[in-house]
Amino acid sequence: MIIEGKRTKAASGKTYKVHNPATGEVVDLVPAGDSTDVDRAAQAAAKAFPTWSKVAPNKRAEILHSAAHHLLGKVEEIAPILTKEQGKTLLESRIEAQRFGENIAWFADLAGKVHGEYIALSDTTTYGLVLRRPIGVCGAIVPWNFPLTLAANKVAPAIAAGNTVVLKPASTTPLSTLACIEALIEGGLPEGVVNVVLGSATGDPIVAHPLIRKIALTGSTPTGKKVMARAAEGLKKITLELGGSDPCIVLDDADLEAAARAITVGRFFNCGQACLAVKRLYVQEGVYDALIEKLVMRASKLKPGNGLQKDSRMGPLHTETQRAEVEAQVKDAIDRGAKVLFGAGRPMGADYDKGWFIEPTILENVPDGARMWTEEVFGPALPVRKIKDLDEGIRLANASQFGLGSSIWTASISAAHRGVTELEAGYTWVNALQIAHDELPFGGTKQSGFGKEHGVEAFLQYTEDKSVVVGGL
Ligand code: NAD
Repeated sequence: MIIEGKRTKAASGKTYKVHNPATGEVVDLVPAGDSTDVDRAAQAAAKAFPTWSKVAPNKRAEILHSAAHHLLGKVEEIAPILTKEQGKTLLESRIEAQRFGENIAWFADLAGKVHGEYIALSDTTTYGLVLRRPIGVCGAIVPWNFPLTLAANKVAPAIAAGNTVVLKPASTTPLSTLACIEALIEGGLPEGVVNVVLGSATGDPIVAHPLIRKIALTGSTPTGKKVMARAAEGLKKITLELGGSDPCIVLDDADLEAAARAITVGRFFNCGQACLAVKRLYVQEGVYDALIEKLVMRASKLKPGNGLQKDSRMGPLHTETQRAEVEAQVKDAIDRGAKVLFGAGRPMGADYDKGWFIEPTILENVPDGARMWTEEVFGPALPVRKIKDLDEGIRLANASQFGLGSSIWTASISAAHRGVTELEAGYTWVNALQIAHDELPFGGTKQSGFGKEHGVEAFLQYTEDKSVVVGGL
């Protein structure tokens, strides 16, 4: 763990093993923290807060830029660590480690741009000000699918705004997070500003700790509900980035080549373990067959393999449980009559024996009510459905408990506009690859949560307003 700038063991002395999802090998032994360690980390963050929050904003920006620059110089060191603990390909790991540094740098630019308001009052012997203040110690709880991106989404705006952090990676992906935070500290981030606790027993104590004033969680919807209830006991501010089942609508006038490419990346990147991912595909009847052909051709090129090997295009699923869950969802669809267009099995051969590999999978004729339509599919399996028109597409797209992302492919500006205004989601991409941009606020609606990461909005959510009346003029 990292507490007050130093690597530290768990107070209990307990440890646990981190395994490689491609080989089953033990990658490392790490401390299994508990509430005592969370308390140490929260105390360290509270101790660092008065100094960090008072660093001049331009100086804070300078420190963060220098820390981010140092981290960016270590991307090639960090990427294999992420691949070994998470399973994703080296290319995916490089992108993620790079994004960590870029995210810190993006929010560093905002550190010096905090502003409030002057407000004239009816009593003209006074005037009002609205100050924007950092909140204090913030808790950041992160899942295993994008350990670095999702940590940076919380840490970067929090510390740029002058807060300090207790960060908890998922218990199966602690190593690359430690490497990134250590790189920031080597690059000049003062000790105690970001503290890292490890182990599955540290989540609830973070949410419950009295010194921690805000909780940002990325995780599943059931975890989000538990965290919200627990945070309510301490009346904490919360941001919840939860599950999704993003619909994608492709109309007859779409650029099919571009759509096929974006859908393939959108569904199979990170072996399908992404919150923002094309998880339900609705295709208008005129281009249905042509699009399916392109998707199957692209899926056939996604060679599963150990992420460290150069020719691997898709790593394994992260855990045995995760693979069993995706396989059960696919089986449920097939049992109800779905037709397999591609995959639906495990790749065969000695290279695959010890890892949680699965084939990229595309299914059609998946009946209403099948788990692939109603639940989040957190793996590389895509159900496709033929639609008559946009009305049907939007109706089916919105018939979901989730509302994270969504996309539409069409050459018609009026159809695109209907997608933008009628799709129930926190994000809609029109003729564009489903990726989150630093500049745009990202977050869900419905059971996908609330609050924003990315953009100026995320930065503001790590501040709170304070009103001031200045009298005696
Ligand atoms: P998870 O909910 O099981 O765990 C997420 C994190 O919360 C882990 O660090 C875990 O240890 C911690 N946690 C679990 N129970 C807790 C509790 N009661 N109190 C405090 N912390 C607790 O999720 P996962 O399986 O690691 O990740 C996959 C899920 O994350 C998927 O549903 C996916 O859609 C979602 N996700 C959402 C986004 C988004 O931005 N909306 C991004 C990525 C992943």
